[in-house]
Amino acid sequence: MKLTILGCYSATPRILANPTSQVLESQGHMFLIDCGEGTQVQLRKHKIKFNRIKHIFISHLHGDHFFGLVGLISTFRLLTRETDLHIYGPKGIKEVVTLQMKLADSWTNYQLIFHELTSKESELIFEDDKMEVHTIPLNHRVYTNGFLFKEKEGKRKLNIGAVEEANINVAYYRKLTQGFDVVNEDGINIKNESVTKPGDKPKSYAFCSDTMYKEDIVSIIENVDVLYHESTFLETQAHLAPKTKHSTAKEAATIAKKANVGKLLLGHYSTRYKDLNGFKIEAEEVFDSVELSEDGKTFEF
Ligand SMILES: [Zn+2]
Repeated sequence: MKLTILGCYSATPRILANPTSQVLESQGHMFLIDCGEGTQVQLRKHKIKFNRIKHIFISHLHGDHFFGLVGLISTFRLLTRETDLHIYGPKGIKEVVTLQMKLADSWTNYQLIFHELTSKESELIFEDDKMEVHTIPLNHRVYTNGFLFKEKEGKRKLNIGAVEEANINVAYYRKLTQGFDVVNEDGINIKNESVTKPGDKPKSYAFCSDTMYKEDIVSIIENVDVLYHESTFLETQAHLAPKTKHSTAKEAATIAKKANVGKLLLGHYSTRYKDLNGFKIEAEEVFDSVELSEDGKTFEF
C-alpha cells in the first residue's frame, strides 16, 4: 500500500496547510479519501493521474473534508472523463453535489454513482477479488465515518524445488497458487502446503477523522498495519477536544495502543500550532510507533 497525504490540517486552507485529503494506492486501485478545498491542485502537484481515481470516500460533510469535491467532479468532465465515479459518503452528499451542478446548469459525461451512508454500525461498502472497504463509525458533531481498507489473502507462492520434485505437471501450477491439492504424474495426491508457501501478507489501513476519543472503534481497527487518527489538539488545549468532538495526540495514541496497530499517523492538526513536533512527543508518551502526516509526504507499507 502507498499512502500520499495531500492535506492533513483542519479548518481553513493556508499557503502551506491543506485541508484533509489523501490517496491510497492498493491492488491497482487509487482511492481518494476526503476531498478538502484545493485537492485537485494537490493531485496535480503530486502528479497523481486524475483518471485513475474511480472511488472517492468522504468521511463527513464538514467543509474541510469535502469542499473540493464539486470542483474535482467538474474538472473530470473538462478532462473528458468517461469512466464511472463512485462516491461514498453521508446521506445528503448526493443532494449537495447535484444541487450545485443543477444551479450551474452543469452536467457530467460520465456516470456519478452515489453510495449514501446512514448506518451507525460498521458495514462493508466496497469489495472486489483483492480488496474490502468497511466503514468505521466515528463520534463527531455530524454523522461521520472513517474507512478501513483491507487487502484480501494473496495467492500462494510455489516452492519450485518441491513442486519439481513432486513430479507435478506445469498445467496444475495455477491450481496450486489458488490453494488446491493436485494429483501428480504418478497419480499420487499432493497436499498443497507441502509444495507452496503463503503469499504476501495482506496489508490494511484505517483512516479515522474526525472524531472524539471513541474506544469502540478498537475492535474494528485491531492489528491494522497503519492507522491515521486525527489529533487536532495538544494537551494544553485538551479541554477543547470533547467540546468540538475532536481528539488530542495522546488520545489518538491510546487508540493506537489498544488496537495494537503497526504504526500511528497523526494529522488534522489545528492551524493554531506552528510546530508539529509537540504532537509526536505527546503521542510517544503512550505509543512508540508514531509519525507525523505532512502535506506531500508518502508512506509505503
Ligand atoms: Zn469535522
